[in-house]
Amino acid sequence: MRGREETVTVVPLRGLGRGLAYCIPEGMEDRIGVGSLVRMPLGNRTEHGIVVRMGDDGEFERGRMKQLFGLEQAFPVVREDGIRLANWMAGYYSCGMEQVLEVMIPGAVRRGMQQKQERFVTLAEKLDGEILAQLERRAPKQHAVVEFMRGQVARDSWPRGLIIKRLKVSPTVIDGLVEKGLLVERREASERVAYADGISEGEHVVTTGFELTGEQAAAASSIRESLKEGGFHVHLLHGITGSGKTEVYMRIMKDVLAAGGGIIFLVPEVALTPQTVGRLRARFEAVGGDKVVVWHSHLSDGERYDAWRALATGEAKVVVGARSAVFAPVENLQLIVVDEEHEPAYKQEEVPRYNGRDVAVYRAMINKALCVLGSATPSLETLHNVDIQKYKLDRLDKRVDDRQLPLMHVVDMRREKGGKVFSQLLADKLQDRLEKKEQAILFLNRRGYDASLHCPDCGFVAVCDFCDITMTHHFYDRRMRCHMCGSETSVPSTCPKCRSPKIRYKGSGTQKVETIAKKILPHANIVRIDADTMRRRHAFREQLTAFRQGKIDVLVGTQMIAKGLDFPNVTLVGLLDADISMHLPDFRASERTFQLLVQVSGRAGRGDRAGEVVVQTYMPASPPIQFGRQQDFDGFTKEELDHRKEFGYPPYRHLIHHLIRGQNQEKVEFYAKQWVQQVGKGLQKRGVEIRGPAPCPVERIQNMFRYQIWYFTPNVGRIMPFLNEQRRAFKWDPELIEIIDVDAQHL
Ligand code: ADP
Ligand code: ZN
Ligand code: ZN
Repeated sequence: MRGREETVTVVPLRGLGRGLAYCIPEGMEDRIGVGSLVRMPLGNRTEHGIVVRMGDDGEFERGRMKQLFGLEQAFPVVREDGIRLANWMAGYYSCGMEQVLEVMIPGAVRRGMQQKQERFVTLAEKLDGEILAQLERRAPKQHAVVEFMRGQVARDSWPRGLIIKRLKVSPTVIDGLVEKGLLVERREASERVAYADGISEGEHVVTTGFELTGEQAAAASSIRESLKEGGFHVHLLHGITGSGKTEVYMRIMKDVLAAGGGIIFLVPEVALTPQTVGRLRARFEAVGGDKVVVWHSHLSDGERYDAWRALATGEAKVVVGARSAVFAPVENLQLIVVDEEHEPAYKQEEVPRYNGRDVAVYRAMINKALCVLGSATPSLETLHNVDIQKYKLDRLDKRVDDRQLPLMHVVDMRREKGGKVFSQLLADKLQDRLEKKEQAILFLNRRGYDASLHCPDCGFVAVCDFCDITMTHHFYDRRMRCHMCGSETSVPSTCPKCRSPKIRYKGSGTQKVETIAKKILPHANIVRIDADTMRRRHAFREQLTAFRQGKIDVLVGTQMIAKGLDFPNVTLVGLLDADISMHLPDFRASERTFQLLVQVSGRAGRGDRAGEVVVQTYMPASPPIQFGRQQDFDGFTKEELDHRKEFGYPPYRHLIHHLIRGQNQEKVEFYAKQWVQQVGKGLQKRGVEIRGPAPCPVERIQNMFRYQIWYFTPNVGRIMPFLNEQRRAFKWDPELIEIIDVDAQHL
C-alpha cells in the first residue's frame, strides 16, 4: 500500500483547467516537490504539468492511479508562494490555473530547455617566465592569447569562443596552446546574460551613493522601519521627477540584500529595463555584490532560461523587469519595488488580464514582504489606499538639486491660425534652443502621419471595413492602416464617395510633426521615436543613447519616451496636443491627461539649466490642464476623487468589464441579454450594480460584433466565485467568445 506522500496533484499545462492525481515513480520521491515541472500521461498523450500539491484528494484508488513519467527540470520552476499566487489570480481574474501558470513560467523553461554547455579555457599552472619567452619568439599569436588572459586579473576562466572573437585569432591558436598543456579546456555551463556588454557609455555610470537629502533620508528611514518590523507592508513613495526615488529604492535594496533577502524590481516598459539594470548593476554587481538578472518578453529563449534558472536556484537574488517579472521565482523574497506604479502598461490586455502592480502587492502579502510603489503621479487607486491607511505614504517634494520645476506655458490652440501643428510660441522656442545648442523633446499621443483621411465636400472619413474605426495614414509607404486590426489600403486621390479631389488629411501624427519640425529647423538633427520606427530590438536604446550624447537636437515621439528617462541637456518640452485623451470615452481620461502633463514636464531641465514646457491645448480651462500647469497634485487629486466618488467609479468601486463578441450581431445581443437576465439578481444581491448590455463604442472589430456589460462592485473577491460558477454553467452559443476583464483600464 502506497502512502499519501507518494502521490501528487498536478495541473497539466494544456487544457483541462484542474489538478489531477498521480503516483511518484519509485526512487524519485526526494526530487519531486511542489513547483516541480513533470511529464505525465494524460489520456493517450504525454503532457507537461506543475505539481501544485503533495498528496491527492482521494478521488482515485491507488491501484488505478497513473504514474508520472519523470521530472523535466531539476529545480522547482514555481515556488510554493507562486502556486498560492496562481490560485488567487485564477479566481480573481476569472481564468484557468493553467493560463496563469503559462504566463508565470517562461516557455523555454516549460519546454524543458537545459543549461547551455560551452568550452572554457584557463591558464595552466606550469606557465613561467621561460615558457613565456619561448612562446613570444616561436608563436606570437599564442603568446598574445596568454598575455591577454594573464592581464585580466578579475577572471581566470574564459569562454573559448569569446577569446577567439576578442583577439581575432583562429581556433587553431587555442588548440595549439591546449596541446602544449599551457591552457586547460573543459566544458561548463555558460550563461547568456542580457545586456552584458550592451550597456554603452553614458548609460552606465558607477555610483557609490550620495549623501541623502533630508527628504530622502526621512523616506528611507520610514521604509526601513517597516522592514525592521517585518511582515507585509506597502509604502507609496510619491516623489516628483528628479527627487531621487531610485536612490531611496537602492538604499532599501542594499539592506534587504544584506539580510539575505531577494528582490523584484518592476518597470513599466521593456524599453526602460536597460537603464534601470545599468544603474542597479553599477551599484551592486560592479562592486562585487549581488547579481542583477533581467527579465522581460524581448529576451531570447536562452537568456530567459538562464535568468529563470539563476533565480530558481537562488544563485541570483535581484531581478529587474517588466510586468511578468512579478512572477520570478525569487528565493526568500523580501522586497518588491514597482516603479512608475501608475502606468497603464502594468495591465496585461490578454488572458490572464492581470495588473502587475496589484499582483505585486498581493504577492508581497503572501510572502510577508515589503512592497514599495513609486511614482511622481500615483494612481488614484493607490492614493485611495493611502487614504484608508492600507498603505503608508512617503513624499519627496523637492528635486535633489533644489532646482525649480520648469516654467509651463499653456497655449490655447483655438487662437492659433487654421489647424496648425506648432503654435508660434513653440516654433520660436525651438529656434532659440537650437541656437543655444540645447535639446528639445516633442510629445504627441498618436502615431501615423495624419490621423484621418477626410473629405471637406461630403464629410467622408476613411474607416476600417472591419473595425468601424478611423484609418491612419502612414506617410513613409503611403498606406492607410487600421491601428486596431492592422488591415491596410492604398491612399485614394479623390473621395471614394463624391469624387472630390479636395480629400485631405486631418489631425496630426508623429510623422507629420517630424516633417514640419524639419521645415522649421532645416539644420537640426531631428529623430522620431515611436512604435513604427522602433521595431528593431535595440533601435530605441541606440537612439536614446545618441540623444543623451547630444548627437540629436530634437526628439519627436509618443509618450513612450516620457517614461522615467533622464536627459540633462533638454531645456524645452513641447506637448503638442495635451487633450487627445480627453476625447476618449474613458473615465480615466482626466487622470491620464494630468499625469501626462506632469510626467513630460519632468523631462525638462534636469541638468544645470532650467526648463520650459509648452502645452498646446484646445481645452485650456479643463481641470487636468489647470491643475497640471500649477503642478498642483493634491488639488487635482481631491477634485478628481470627489468626481469619481459621485459616479461610483474606481477607486470607490471595482470595475469588471464583460465583453461578448461574435460574427452574428443578433446572436451576440441575444446571449448578452440572456446572460444578464440569468445572473442579474444574484449579482445585485451581492451588492453589484450592472450596466449594459450595450454595443461597444467600437462595435465591430475584425468583423466581430461586440457587446459589453459592466459590473460595479465594492469587493471583487466576494463575487468572483459566483460569477465564475455562473460563467461555467451558462450555455453560451459556441460561436461566441466572452471575455472578463477585472479592474479594466478603459470604459
Ligand atoms: P527620480 O527617480 O525620482 O526621478 P532619480 O533617482 O533618477 O530621481 O534621481 C535624479 C538624479 O539625482 C539622478 O541623477 C541621481 O543620481 C541624482 N541623485 C539622487 N539622489 C541624490 C543625492 N542625495 N545627492 C545627489 N544626487 C542625487
Ligand atoms: Zn467626398
Ligand atoms: Zn480594423
